[in-house]
Amino acid sequence: MSSVSSIKKVCVIGAGTMGAGIAAQVANAGLKVLLLDIAGDSERNSVVESAIERIKKSDPPLLMLPENIERIEIGNIEDDLAKVAGCDWVVEAIVERLDIKRTLYRNLLPHLKEGALVSSNTSTIPISLLMEDMPEQLRSQFCITHFFNPVRYMRLLELVKGEDTSAEVIATLSEFCERILGKGVVECDDTPGFLGNRVGVFAMQAAIYEAIRLGLRVEEADALFGRPMGIPKTGAFALYDLIGLDLMADVVRSLRSILPEGDAFHKIGAESDIINGQISKGFTGNKGKGGFYKEEGDERFSLNLETSEWQARSKDLPELAKVGEVEGLSALIKGDDKLSEFAWNVLAHIFTYSASLVPDVTKSPQDIDDAMKLGYNWVHGPFEMMDILGTDMLVERMEREGWSVPEFLLAAKGHAFYAVENGQLNVRHHDGSYQPVKLPDGVSRFSMMRRTLEPVFENKGASLFHLTGGERLVEFHTKANALDADCMAVIAMAASDPGPGIIVHNDAQHFSAGVNLEHFLALIKAQDWSGIDGFLIDFQEAVSALLYCDAPAIGAPSGLALGGGYEVLAHCDLVIAHANSVMGLVEPTVGLVPGGGGVKETYLRWYQRTGDWEKAAWNCFNQLGFSRTGTSPDMAAKLAYFEPERDRQVMNRDRLIGESRNAIKEMSGTYSPRSVPEFALAGGDVFDAMVAFLEKGLAKGNFLPHDVIVATAIARIVTGGEGSGKTDVSEKDMFRFERENFISLAKTPETEIRIESMLSGRGIVRN
Ligand code: NAD
Repeated sequence: MSSVSSIKKVCVIGAGTMGAGIAAQVANAGLKVLLLDIAGDSERNSVVESAIERIKKSDPPLLMLPENIERIEIGNIEDDLAKVAGCDWVVEAIVERLDIKRTLYRNLLPHLKEGALVSSNTSTIPISLLMEDMPEQLRSQFCITHFFNPVRYMRLLELVKGEDTSAEVIATLSEFCERILGKGVVECDDTPGFLGNRVGVFAMQAAIYEAIRLGLRVEEADALFGRPMGIPKTGAFALYDLIGLDLMADVVRSLRSILPEGDAFHKIGAESDIINGQISKGFTGNKGKGGFYKEEGDERFSLNLETSEWQARSKDLPELAKVGEVEGLSALIKGDDKLSEFAWNVLAHIFTYSASLVPDVTKSPQDIDDAMKLGYNWVHGPFEMMDILGTDMLVERMEREGWSVPEFLLAAKGHAFYAVENGQLNVRHHDGSYQPVKLPDGVSRFSMMRRTLEPVFENKGASLFHLTGGERLVEFHTKANALDADCMAVIAMAASDPGPGIIVHNDAQHFSAGVNLEHFLALIKAQDWSGIDGFLIDFQEAVSALLYCDAPAIGAPSGLALGGGYEVLAHCDLVIAHANSVMGLVEPTVGLVPGGGGVKETYLRWYQRTGDWEKAAWNCFNQLGFSRTGTSPDMAAKLAYFEPERDRQVMNRDRLIGESRNAIKEMSGTYSPRSVPEFALAGGDVFDAMVAFLEKGLAKGNFLPHDVIVATAIARIVTGGEGSGKTDVSEKDMFRFERENFISLAKTPETEIRIESMLSGRGIVRN
């Protein structure tokens, strides 16, 4: 009997892009890995050794903690294949060649542990071919586990069952990949491209096909087939550049070769002179000299799709994209210019194609929506988008314009694909029945759950919900979840009526990237210093209310939780973080100090860890001055932004709500808020030593003048500043010091320049 707990060691064969990523993620999950590749001529393990170096240097990092690399044992398939006998799951991730894969399986057979699971990461080869003539035993233990690149960050795992795969193997790997590796598992049939690439590559091709046909500039097409549609801003052309034009051309060719004749893919995925021309000239994408875009010094170019000449890249977004970002999908398709026509045609291609896959490829639209959200980072899947626009209007317009409307979409006319009944979100299936959305036990997504709830309060920045157990949930929903006065008002409101507990969580890509800098910049330009003070006071009062209210507050982040976003977490009783969360205080990058209690809490945590205010002051000064962040909870723990003794991390972000609710239950009855701490400032001698350190760094060229001014402000908060003694101060004093130093920095032109640069997209300015 295989079960999740029976998988203790995993063998990954093939240490290329995917194998290295899978090995790193298994190591992140705390399991031992054997990583094998072909043998080198003199250095037998040289291929895997270079993979290990790539893992160590990867950015964003594939490892949640550098030490996790020690869980990966290396070897080669000539000398070490017998070691496979110690592994419970063998994942093959070698080159996409049927003959080579089959030879490997045959060689593996004598060494496989009894009952070991075996899977391939193949993108295109059917199981029937991989397993042809293989012994019965292997066929029943074998399936496809199709991960996406980069494995740590892409949430989708397509799990594909062969005709002979035992149900137990699928159940075990499904649970293992979901709970232990943190993936959103979509079980697929063994059909070409499965679901993610079938629809994802089709969608990219549709955008490229329509852009060429309608004579759009590539940046216009990406601006529309991007954020306004809830699709990552790389759209189609920039995504081609990112993946590589040559690799994409191979993927498209291979999909064409395996998709049935008559599949709509053949029309929009035909061989392209433009793409082949670019590849032959060496423009293979970002890894080469450019692809559809290129940069030369400060100048940026895009490819003219008619002439294949480079043209200056337009800096401004088309007006329609700006409108679409605010007003959503329907605004994009209602005009009669060619940009609206592009938006409509691309969506119509995607909608009709997705609907055509039901029921032959999948019975439930949720599988396709999940695949696109988890594998391509779309905010909404195709069927969710159709619900936003309305099936009535869609079908009528498609019929009027002569689109071939698949039966499943036709039958859904006038109905939504998702509907709530008795507090349950249901999805329409191939036979017209509505069935509950399918998620494993303990897994929930707030984007789905919120459809079954009415907010008890809502403003432009955030909403407050009562969950079914009475728990309060605060959801931010500003752009990039930048925090503003509205968000803080909702936090304060939750704290004044906390029920059994408060969960601060959202299902966006990022928990919060910080406070709304646009608002600060406007106040700075107006020299409205009391306005800034007022905003900071409100922020500090809201987070204090969260911390000292009568019920536990749980911060449940995923993605970025930076600056003000992290300060909200710092004032929760418990943080339950997704294992890819990035946490920390980064205000100095924009010439400011944390003003929402971030310095105070970091200083206190370092004191609690070291029992020494002076050491706490230095640690705080060092990490804040350099705007250090932790790229995982484990890394954040090194900076005291995450407390491993108290806080928890989960591999699957869709378990954050469930875990938070469990924690509230565990704490109920015994909870009491923390007692208000007292602080001791480290004193003027420590301040002088910090200033001396900064001056030395400035003289050596390690720091720039404004870095020194900002770091001096941090030093002043934790020491009391020049000439001060070791003084006891209250929490309120600490809040005040933060505000005073924040405002004095806000008055400097250098800080204004840093904020302006960040807001204009030019990034961090050093001055
Ligand atoms: P890659 O070219 O980066 O790596 C392939 C590795 O296989 C190389 O290190 C090579 O040395 C090794 N190899 C070749 N023959 C071998 C053998 N007989 N024994 C052991 N190792 C051998 O390829 P990749 O992108 O990592 O793709 C691997 C698999 O994953 C393919 O099946 C591919 O279709 C699939 N896949 C790739 C992606 C992607 O985005 N790259 C995504 C999903 C699935």
